[in-house]
Amino acid sequence: MLLFLIFMFYWLNKNFTQPIKKIENAMSVSKLVDNINIKNENEITHIANVYNKLLTNLHNKIKKNRELIRIDFLTKIKNRKAFHENILELLSLYKRYQIPFSIMLFDIDNFKEINDTYGHSVGDEVLKDITKLVQSEIRESDLLYRVGGEEFVVLFPQTSLESAKKVAGKIRKIIQNNLNTVENKTISISIGVCEVKLDDNEDSLYKKVDQLLYKAKKSGKNSCLLYTSPSPRDRTRSR
Ligand code: GH3
Ligand code: MG
Ligand code: MG
Repeated sequence: MLLFLIFMFYWLNKNFTQPIKKIENAMSVSKLVDNINIKNENEITHIANVYNKLLTNLHNKIKKNRELIRIDFLTKIKNRKAFHENILELLSLYKRYQIPFSIMLFDIDNFKEINDTYGHSVGDEVLKDITKLVQSEIRESDLLYRVGGEEFVVLFPQTSLESAKKVAGKIRKIIQNNLNTVENKTISISIGVCEVKLDDNEDSLYKKVDQLLYKAKKSGKNSCLLYTSPSPRDRTRSR
């Protein structure tokens, strides 16, 4: 009988207690679960509690990572990935319920020169200050993204071209007049603005504002250009 009990003790220790301890140690080392030494519990309750804690922690970490991959690390605003997802949502709302929206793309003028003259870290500060200024000018429902090095997009849900144009104009002026990252240095931006139309998709909208931006750069920078539909004559010609 004694031999049997010793054997059972040995067997339980080898097959249950030790593996549970191993899992506990691994979790402790990985820091996935804190405070796993819950006293006064049998082993099965203990492992169930640890397992639940682990699942909750993993769930929270996945949620946090999902948010982080949509955030630009420098300016802490949304990034290109978030832009891509949000514009698809707005396009779907527009196509289903005819809820319009407008898009603005802007790019800092002569930014390379700012980096070359004052250093990359000052360039970074300019990016952060511009972000703050733009955020202070747009509504909470408007969405600001850093989509490239010194390129930003604002999506204006439920907003016509006329209203987006006013905000874009204000943003251009406020950057020109109030951005004081570098003393005695005026920094400007060029902008393209467009309102969604029935035959638009993500690419066509981006192309429209990108072409406007290109035109604004070509025609002297520090300006805001709006998309106007081609006249029927232009359409016939381009066919
Ligand atoms: P343009 O007026 O035609 O837009 O000229 P630009 O000098 O602004 O444009 P260009 O494309 O020649 O240079 C963009 C510069 O932006 C080059 C790149 O090193 C810089 N840049 C991109 N990302 C960052 C960043 O995160 N921080 C800093 N400081 N600079 C960046
Ligand atoms: Mg630029
Ligand atoms: Mg650029």
